[in-house]
Amino acid sequence: MKGLDTNIYDIVCVSPRNHMVFTPLLASTCVGTLEFRSVAEPIGRIQPAISKSPGSYFFLANCNAVDVQNHVLVIASGAEASTFGIKGVKEHATFLREVSHAQEIRRKLLLNLMLSEVPGLSEEEKIRLLHCVVIGGGPTGVEFSGELSDFIMNDVRERYSHVKDYIQVTLIEANEILSSFDVRLRDYATNQLTKSGVRLVHGVVKDVQSQKIILSDDTEVPYGLLVWSTGVGPSPFTKSMEFPKSPGGRIGVDDWLRVPSVQDVFAVGDCAGFLETTGKPVLPALAQVAERQGKYLAAMLNQIGKEGGGHAHCVGDKELGAPFVYKHLGSMATVGRYKALVDLRKSKVGGKRSVSHGICQLVYLAISISDPCGKLEEQILCSG
Ligand SMILES: Cc1cc2nc3c(=O)[nH]c(=O)nc-3n(C[C@H](O)[C@H](O)[C@H](O)COP(=O)(O)OP(=O)(O)OC[C@H]3O[C@@H](n4cnc5c(N)ncnc54)[C@H](O)[C@@H]3O)c2cc1C
Repeated sequence: MKGLDTNIYDIVCVSPRNHMVFTPLLASTCVGTLEFRSVAEPIGRIQPAISKSPGSYFFLANCNAVDVQNHVLVIASGAEASTFGIKGVKEHATFLREVSHAQEIRRKLLLNLMLSEVPGLSEEEKIRLLHCVVIGGGPTGVEFSGELSDFIMNDVRERYSHVKDYIQVTLIEANEILSSFDVRLRDYATNQLTKSGVRLVHGVVKDVQSQKIILSDDTEVPYGLLVWSTGVGPSPFTKSMEFPKSPGGRIGVDDWLRVPSVQDVFAVGDCAGFLETTGKPVLPALAQVAERQGKYLAAMLNQIGKEGGGHAHCVGDKELGAPFVYKHLGSMATVGRYKALVDLRKSKVGGKRSVSHGICQLVYLAISISDPCGKLEEQILCSG
């Protein structure tokens, strides 16, 4: 949306959220390291035309169907947190995808800290209230656990010292933490988290109740705060659309990010995936994928517009140029205590460029804060 030439196109954006969330820093807002406003950018600031140009608008609304007959559409509706159909997750756990989730986590954490000091509370209840359980050892779960343990070591010890020995963070993962990272980085992360007091548990959740979770071996884990972070899958909106689907159920796209079989419909980001017929893998649900697909599509549509296209039914007649090619620039994750991991391999099984020490936290934060659009990331990681 940001890259579209507004002299050629009117832009209409429909979303139930009027801001973009800079998700890599969301975990830091849960414990007050960053303020919520630092990670949210109003859409009107990203693309001013939607609040100024006569033909461009932002509609605060949910889209629940698509009329492909009456035309040109880019679908970028994201994904939804996966719950694997486990009973009680939606009712009792908090996800970490939106600013409202981070606010809810912060509210619950502070409330539990206060409640645990109320006189007359049993030891058992105090331990439960102050047990923060994170499900899912991907980058989000690990980063959030790291932030929480920093918060406990710094703020809780000082400001809630009566209950400092009761608070505990447990990270539960079915396989291994940070499974997409190089094995040495995984070991490093495990050591760092353990040193910070995070309890790592290998387990599979089968049921979530209001005050405890049940693992597949029937172990009961009481909790006061439960954060669910087990990856993302297609949203009900994505599932409901009668478009071809990629493996994994995302909206299927060809090499130019077009949805085949309907004209003038494109899909980018977490909701889209290459069709099996392209021979390309479905790309990871990452901002670095979404951002580059968005830029690619904006450039392509601008070119089509300059050549006199850009109207309904005319994309099919135009030369679309080079197909979209994704080059993975690496992955980063913080693990608390000013430590971070940077994995510069091009793929899971690729080369050996991986780093893990204090300086990485600085690199990570410098990139994240100063360059949310990813230009600096490209330079630093490529020269790494
Ligand atoms: C905590 C966290 C940390 C992350 N860290 C990183 C990281 O370090 N690096 C990285 O590359 N990626 C990271 N990601 C992933 C990254 O945030 C996503 O890949 C990226 O946001 C996907 O962009 P998108 O535009 O496809 O979808 P989204 O950013 O999810 O945007 C989708 C938009 O569509 C709207 N929408 C949904 N349904 C509808 C509907 N029916 N009608 C209208 N609008 C709708 C939503 O409200 C939302 O505004 C992280 C994600 C999380 C949750």
